[in-house]
Amino acid sequence: MSNDDCLFCKLYRDGDHVNATDGFVALRDINPQADTHLLVIPERHVDTFRDVGELTPDEARRMLEFVADTARRAGLEDYKVVVNVGPGAGQTVFHLHWHVLGGRIRGLA
Ligand code: 5GP
Ligand code: ZN
Repeated sequence: MSNDDCLFCKLYRDGDHVNATDGFVALRDINPQADTHLLVIPERHVDTFRDVGELTPDEARRMLEFVADTARRAGLEDYKVVVNVGPGAGQTVFHLHWHVLGGRIRGLA
């Protein structure tokens, strides 16, 4: 499931997680584009959102619930959830992830 050269596979295992559940973690973005900028990362390595069908139906549902739970736990009521799909849209890490952006947002929106 995990890819030795993948940054987010490593961060899934070793990162400083602000929220975690079976198969998913959330951590702070290293270069925040908002007052609160979190990344939700699945354990399963999927290159991009185009391949989201590689998640099982249960994983896909639980991932969405985990995004909402992560925002709630961060104290966010209003926020954006962003996925960059492909380099032309700004994707730089090719392991599916969701940006959760709250407060004043500077980029990605
Ligand atoms: P993308 O551009 O692929 O949508 O998002 C990748 C995100 O990962 C960027 O917002 C970038 O700041 C963040 N990032 C890159 N390297 C690291 C890292 O080593 N640690 C953390 N926490 N975030 C990272
Ligand atoms: Zn990966």
